[in-house]
Amino acid sequence: MNADKISQGIEALKTALPASAWTQDPDLIDPHLREWRDKYFGKTPLLLTPRTTEEVAAAVKICATHKIPLMPQGGNTGLVGGNTPQGEVLISLKKMTAIREINPTANAMTVEAGATLQSVLDAADGADRKFPLTLSSQGSCTIGGVLSTNAGGNHVLKYGTTKELVFGVEAVLADGSIFNGLTSLRKDNTGYDLNRLFLGAEGTLGIITAATLKLFPKPKYVQRALIGLESAAAAVALLEPFRAGGRLAMFEVMPAIGYRAVVDNFENIRDPFDNAHTWYLLCDWEVESETEGLAIAEVTIGAALETGEIKDALIAMNETQAAELLSIREHMSAGQKFLGGSIKHDITVPIDKIPDFFALADPAMEDIVAGCRPVGFGHFGDGNIHYNIAQPESANREAFLENWDILSQRVFDIVESLGGSISAEHGIGIMKRDDLAQRASPVKLKLLRAVKTALDPDGIMNPRVMI
Ligand SMILES: Cc1cc2nc3c(=O)[nH]c(=O)nc-3n(C[C@H](O)[C@H](O)[C@H](O)COP(=O)(O)OP(=O)(O)OC[C@H]3O[C@@H](n4cnc5c(N)ncnc54)[C@H](O)[C@@H]3O)c2cc1C
Repeated sequence: MNADKISQGIEALKTALPASAWTQDPDLIDPHLREWRDKYFGKTPLLLTPRTTEEVAAAVKICATHKIPLMPQGGNTGLVGGNTPQGEVLISLKKMTAIREINPTANAMTVEAGATLQSVLDAADGADRKFPLTLSSQGSCTIGGVLSTNAGGNHVLKYGTTKELVFGVEAVLADGSIFNGLTSLRKDNTGYDLNRLFLGAEGTLGIITAATLKLFPKPKYVQRALIGLESAAAAVALLEPFRAGGRLAMFEVMPAIGYRAVVDNFENIRDPFDNAHTWYLLCDWEVESETEGLAIAEVTIGAALETGEIKDALIAMNETQAAELLSIREHMSAGQKFLGGSIKHDITVPIDKIPDFFALADPAMEDIVAGCRPVGFGHFGDGNIHYNIAQPESANREAFLENWDILSQRVFDIVESLGGSISAEHGIGIMKRDDLAQRASPVKLKLLRAVKTALDPDGIMNPRVMI
């Protein structure tokens, strides 16, 4: 990179954009340089906070002219380092928060990229619709971020990942031109699906500035239950009977170690069970009425209690109880901070292989670091396990974290042997860039690079991320 050309470009950006749309104040920039787990720390010569798509386009055009690398940022909740700049100009979309349109007839909603997921959920709810994406980070993460990472969350087994929830996007391309794919058309067979290129692209192909999202009828009632189990295999065995009838909308599993880290440490969360269990399953059925919800829960859970597949169960009887049960799952990531250093994986395997995964991975981890504590939790209904390894109780945190690569490579080998994926829902970012390069097929890598080069020939869009 030519330093003179970059400083000229920075000055050009400062001149072209309103004073309110950029800053070099370290105090204002600092929160954008740290991510949620304190794993990555960054630096940037300039933070841009545009308010309109045209301002984003003007900024990217200047970056293109001066070949200045840039990084888009939403809520900064990403977990693979793709949101932490290392010298790129940082473009935060957080001021672009408008809900542009809600069209209940088309079941569509057009929102700007910086709108938080929570604000979108609330707006859909206000229009008597459901936008079926929920993550523990929904208060902070943005629509631009969830589309760019193709986020998963708790409702994938019924509604699919974010890719399935989008009609089209508006995006600023690497040359500063604006692609307008906003539409609520359910049928449009006019060439390649260009909108999809930007979903899961992690900001490497363009900056999403707005999107038209799919809305769904709001379920009349959600029946929630928390279940105590003996094993991960017992949870997987329940998937089939629980999803009969097509009402199952959430199927989240937690091991005792992660569950206890939450209920024993957060003041407002209590263990609703009298007895301890080895594994816990939290599930939702979306139904027509409270009566139907209770009937489904009682019949399915009752049958499994009789056969001994379930050790204990709590059926939520009102919204407060339902919220309390969900809160345990929502604090699973934060709760693991109480276990010390943690080496994290976001992997997926075919659902029927989940028990095999634990049977192979747990002893493999123990072989490498004696006394380490696997905490494998998450979206088992999608085969998605957040397979975190907590440090041995008495270990030194930093010394344990030095094992990150060796433990991860072993986990990834096992995942691949079972036909799984090394990234289920968090993406590649910086963290898994080398793993993708080493483990993807040559043909896949060739196609990924061809798409990147076609859309971003000078490599200015998030150049250190993914490929
Ligand atoms: C407590 C917690 C729980 C989580 N749970 C889940 C979960 O259940 N499922 C899940 O999938 N993820 C989860 N995540 C990860 C994270 O919330 C998601 O990846 C989310 O989609 C990131 O959104 P963001 O707005 O914070 O994006 P950022 O972190 O700001 O950015 C993420 C990536 O997207 C790019 N990007 C951001 N905005 C744009 C844009 N407008 N245009 C182009 N590129 C852009 C960035 O450059 C970066 O590469 C969780 C995170 C936390 C902290």
